[in-house]
Amino acid sequence: KSGFITIIGRPNVGKSTFINRVIGQKIAIMSDKAQTTRNTIQGVLTEKDAQFVFIDTPGIHKPKHRLGDFMVKIAEGTLNEVDVVMFMINAEEGFGRGDQYIIDRLKNIKRPIFLIINKIDQVHPDTLLQLIDQYKDKLSFAEIIPISALQGNNVTHLLDVLKSHL
Ligand code: GDP
Ligand code: MG
Repeated sequence: KSGFITIIGRPNVGKSTFINRVIGQKIAIMSDKAQTTRNTIQGVLTEKDAQFVFIDTPGIHKPKHRLGDFMVKIAEGTLNEVDVVMFMINAEEGFGRGDQYIIDRLKNIKRPIFLIINKIDQVHPDTLLQLIDQYKDKLSFAEIIPISALQGNNVTHLLDVLKSHL
């Protein structure tokens, strides 16, 4: 099995951290500053029975200037060409306008969309349950999976579920 997986989401939710964790190399630039990842970066993970090609993106958000506009186009351009779309959110932040903007862009995508709730190491389990409740009806998600990209919680499970969609 093999497939392409793109990771989208607002800046700073942990997209690059996730790729770096699963690939095990510092291939994507991580930073607290938004928009550090200026181009899509691919990372290949080869396991015994599967190969994953992860595509890191600059993050989809409402563009404020021309460079922002260009970066958003890169992120959107990958959506219909992949096997799975991972929409990553930050568990520390509630649902916001930035998320609605992304969800509107995902409505016409004919690919399985995973809602990845990242940074669960930072929140109370009740907060996580509330977030799941808040998001689950906003789009038809193929899977909703909480993780900590930084600490590694549930990342192996996520890879297993991804495998089942390839
Ligand atoms: P990106 O803009 O979506 O690519 O986000 P980054 O991967 O650059 O991460 C932004 C910040 O969030 C960095 O300071 C990361 O260390 C931090 N971060 C990413 N994942 C996690 C996580 O699971 N838990 C915590 N506590 N911090 C995280
Ligand atoms: Mg990044």
